[in-house]
Amino acid sequence: MTDSSSGLSTNLQAIRDRIAVACRAAGRDSSEVRLLPVSKTVDEARLRQAYALGLRELGENKVQEAQGKAEAMADLADLRWVLIGHLQTNKSKHAARFASEFQALDSLRVAEALDRHLQKEGRALDVLVQVNTSGEDTKFGLAPDAVEAFVKQLPAFSSLRVRGLMTLALFSHDEARVRPCFVTLRTLRDRLRQSAPDGIVMDELSMGMSGDFELAIAEGATTVRVGTAIFGLRYTPDSAYWPGFAGKSE
Ligand SMILES: *Cc1c(COP(=O)(O)O)cnc(C)c1O
Repeated sequence: MTDSSSGLSTNLQAIRDRIAVACRAAGRDSSEVRLLPVSKTVDEARLRQAYALGLRELGENKVQEAQGKAEAMADLADLRWVLIGHLQTNKSKHAARFASEFQALDSLRVAEALDRHLQKEGRALDVLVQVNTSGEDTKFGLAPDAVEAFVKQLPAFSSLRVRGLMTLALFSHDEARVRPCFVTLRTLRDRLRQSAPDGIVMDELSMGMSGDFELAIAEGATTVRVGTAIFGLRYTPDSAYWPGFAGKSE
């Protein structure tokens, strides 16, 4: 192992241990929680190291960046690319070509465009609906009370395999303000399980990142999206990925 790949390996083990501890504390089995490594800003060489260490999924925020990496690493045929950031309708065509999963669906226009391009490509896409649980108007996602009606429309798009919900919690160090975001998502998922149309599976809760994944696991996360705690600090400011982001509030 090179120095940097042993650093990666150490970080990964540390995160897996923390996930296991959080699961035990919540009375859950670690196999219920998927670790999705988030690789935005991380270069190809490092991602190949991650692959060599056994990672088979990478989360990316921007389509263009993800597509460039997917093309450069097309030789790694079993690597799944998971788009976790807002998608503009006119980029759906690109996403339909290489993404295996899209976690930020929040408009019917995008659903329609994705479905159309997926049909042409003969592909399908796992999809999570993004919910704005913090109420901040800088965040993407549907308002919680709009999700049920939205989900009812989704069976029309046969290439989209709807799996559950995703959220970004409030960026805050104050657990008392972060936790309600996760509770909102879980409560909504539980309610939708009763009302979702046939073919729509509401199992996944993608919530929790480097700073708050233990709390998310306590509240039922089935996928945690972890970037910096695995790959180290990013040199590109997060405002480049999250519009309106101005650092953590207290
Ligand atoms: C970057 C990103 C993450 C990971 O954030 P970290 O704090 O680096 O763990 C999770 N979700 C989304 C949508 C992201 O863009």
